[in-house]
Amino acid sequence: MHANRVRLFFLSSLKGRVLVLTLMALLAVAVPSAIAFSWIVNLTVVKLGTLFAEKQILFDRYRGLESLMREVSLAETVARSPAILAWAQDEGDPAKAQRGLAELEHYRLSFKDKSYFMVIGRSGNYYFNDKDNSYQNDRKRYTLSRENPRDGWYYKTEALGSGCHLNVDHDDNLQVTKVWINCVIRQGEHVLGIIGTGVDLSQFIREVVDIPQTGVQSMFVDRNGAVQAHRDPRLVDFHSLTKDLKAKKTVFLLLDDEEDRAALSLMMAQVSRGDALVQSRFMRVDGHKTLVGVGYLDRLGWFNITLMDVDAIIDRRLFAPIAVLLAAILLVAAALMTYLFKRSVLDRLARVETSVNNVRGGAFTAVAADTAQDEIGRLSRALDEMARAVGDNTDRLEAMVRERTETLERLAHADPLTGVLNRRGFEDAFAREQNRAGRTGRQSGLVLVDLDLFKSINDKHGHQAGDKAIIEIVGRLSAVLRSYDICARWGGDEFFLLIAECDLGALSSIASKLVSVVAREPVRLADGTEIAMTVSVGACLVSSSQSFQAAAAQADAALYAAKHDGRGTFAIYDAARHGRPGRPTLRLG
Ligand code: GH3
Ligand code: MG
Repeated sequence: MHANRVRLFFLSSLKGRVLVLTLMALLAVAVPSAIAFSWIVNLTVVKLGTLFAEKQILFDRYRGLESLMREVSLAETVARSPAILAWAQDEGDPAKAQRGLAELEHYRLSFKDKSYFMVIGRSGNYYFNDKDNSYQNDRKRYTLSRENPRDGWYYKTEALGSGCHLNVDHDDNLQVTKVWINCVIRQGEHVLGIIGTGVDLSQFIREVVDIPQTGVQSMFVDRNGAVQAHRDPRLVDFHSLTKDLKAKKTVFLLLDDEEDRAALSLMMAQVSRGDALVQSRFMRVDGHKTLVGVGYLDRLGWFNITLMDVDAIIDRRLFAPIAVLLAAILLVAAALMTYLFKRSVLDRLARVETSVNNVRGGAFTAVAADTAQDEIGRLSRALDEMARAVGDNTDRLEAMVRERTETLERLAHADPLTGVLNRRGFEDAFAREQNRAGRTGRQSGLVLVDLDLFKSINDKHGHQAGDKAIIEIVGRLSAVLRSYDICARWGGDEFFLLIAECDLGALSSIASKLVSVVAREPVRLADGTEIAMTVSVGACLVSSSQSFQAAAAQADAALYAAKHDGRGTFAIYDAARHGRPGRPTLRLG
């Protein structure tokens, strides 16, 4: 029942339908907008994230380089020093040894770690001094052996040839984890030994890798992807240089998919070739979509890799106010549209509907015409014009009907031959006069006129001539009357006249005039025939309380007396001198 009413509301009301349509349009706009919005947000997040990641990598790259590069450059300089080269070629020469050691001592203080090491390849002798100058007098610490696996780093580095090579190692003797910078001492193609220094990795990690930014993980890896520096020491691949590739802890192990590993390899190859400074791409790390960026530290042969959880860095809730604003704008726009539609269409249509109902109720001029120039305005004005036209037509028709009714009524109350009132008309007129007389208290006169010997006129001149004569006589009788007196044909050759406000004298005078106006001259027909005619008149005074039948009987009695008196005369019924019942006393004219 209720649901039906609701359905009816939506079907029968434009308002309901427009509301539903507006909501549907709002939905049709809002859903694609929401999809587009989240797409734009994603795109923005990815773009900003990528930008941030690439900047971070470039930043790390220079921080990483700066921190280690100074040490590497210094070590390289030492490796090229003539005093060192001379000593390395001829270890046994005490003068060369003294100069070489002096040179090392000179540079030791410049290294950050304030320590150095040097291995002379031919002898395998390992020279070392630390920051406390502990080995001032005994700088040759021990002799390397190919058989000792812990000395493997030397032979591996020697095999790599020119340049400096970094190795993260744990020194069991010194109980420190260090990045060892190993620079090869060369004379042409001939490797003479290795010189270098160490950088405390924990400090390096503090400075470079352990950045407080949430959602960002920085690390350094070598060419094989083996992790050299990471906040989490468990992930660092110590002794990397001497390890088998399979046993290494690489960055690739952090990635979930084989496809991503291949992509990262390719990215590393690209940045190391110098195709681009930075490469980045989304990969899956621990089930999370993570932006992985790669840069290359060419002098060290390391890559700095940044893993970024973009969502943690760029909070998507930042976009919520924009979404709320957009939704509010949409809602306000829809509300405004609905309101404007209601104002400019629905309300005006409702006014037109009210006007139609008024017109239906017969109020043809109650159309509140809309003055606007648009469709509804035109419709409203057309309705107004139509209503007025219908109103005019109705008025005309009503007037016509009234006129026709009056004509019919007149016809119903008129005698067709003479045009004066007929019997019914006269009875009505008599009743009206009696009413009036009741108010004024004045008497009126009733006169009955009968043509004398009319039958013989008909016989002599024909019925048509008789008709003409009747018309002529009526004309003469009417001429005697005042405008408010009434003349009626009672039937055949009998006529009743009603004389308003009358007394006996006036009645006698009128009766006399009636007789004479007929007798005075003959009736002349169109063909020249002259017919001499007379009338007999019987009259009586009528009191306001008297019925027509009673008055007519008195007039008839008077007429009878006039006829009896020889015709062509009048008699007045005199009630005052009324003697025996049924025989009224008559005054004869
Ligand atoms: P009286 O003096 O006694 O009245 O004699 P009368 O011949 O007039 O007698 P009565 O009044 O009885 O006759 C009326 C006659 O009027 C009868 C009829 O032929 C004639 N008449 C009645 N109506 C008409 C009419 O409409 N046209 C014509 N031409 N004659 C009519
Ligand atoms: Mg007669």
